Amino acid sequence: MTIRPLIAGNWKMNGLMADAVALAGGLAEKAKAKDASDDMPGDMLVCPPFVHIAAVSAALDGSGIALGAQDCHTASSGAHTGDVSAAMLVDMGCSHCIVGHSERRADHGEGDALVRQKATAAQGEGLVAVICVGETLEERDAGTTLAVVEAQLRGSVPEGATAANTVIAYEPVWAIGTGRTPTIEQIGEVHDHMRSVLDGLVAESGAVRLLYGGSVNPGNAQDILALANVNGGLVGGASLKVDDFWSILESAA
Ligand code: PEP
Repeated sequence: MTIRPLIAGNWKMNGLMADAVALAGGLAEKAKAKDASDDMPGDMLVCPPFVHIAAVSAALDGSGIALGAQDCHTASSGAHTGDVSAAMLVDMGCSHCIVGHSERRADHGEGDALVRQKATAAQGEGLVAVICVGETLEERDAGTTLAVVEAQLRGSVPEGATAANTVIAYEPVWAIGTGRTPTIEQIGEVHDHMRSVLDGLVAESGAVRLLYGGSVNPGNAQDILALANVNGGLVGGASLKVDDFWSILESAA
């Protein structure tokens, strides 16, 4: 089965409004310069901080680049100071929401059960949940990577998830923002395992997009994206530069 690649940018807590608008505008300009005969090699998604979503939405208008958020609350509204609901994200033009990023798991103590609730809330509002999983360096060194990732998938993916409302991102914690990446063989091994675990967990599991994330850059993207069960990337640092992020998208061709 051919799966159209998805190159997603996680801007994290970076940039002021002008930076976000300039970044989105630069990507939109490149996307608009493509036409039907010179199509984009995949889909592009950007996930700015909550406060920039409205401005980025305007800057992306007409570009075909999708807009997402980095987190959402499990409830649709109510007394949850500082939180943002999936319905609010849809209202602002989002189509995707990252849940379970390792920085949320570490900084906010989010575990699989909560991640699953967040994914359920996102999907319930019509968003695609980008569910993140990945092992720590200690788990990698202990040889438990496949078991850890499998347990996270079984704990975080909601019942009733489908290929249309679910994207999985494998992000080894030790590779995020460090410049270190697993070998191509190690990435392939985890992605092949994830594909087999999803069989039975997600409808049309063969069509679920499996992204790799962790120090993806223009220099390593082509080899990573060439793997059979890698259907795109979740990119942090390199998504903050128009040319680098665009080059990663082009590596998906
Ligand atoms: C991320 O935070 O999802 C990520 C993969 O970051 P980086 O590309 O900077 O490692």
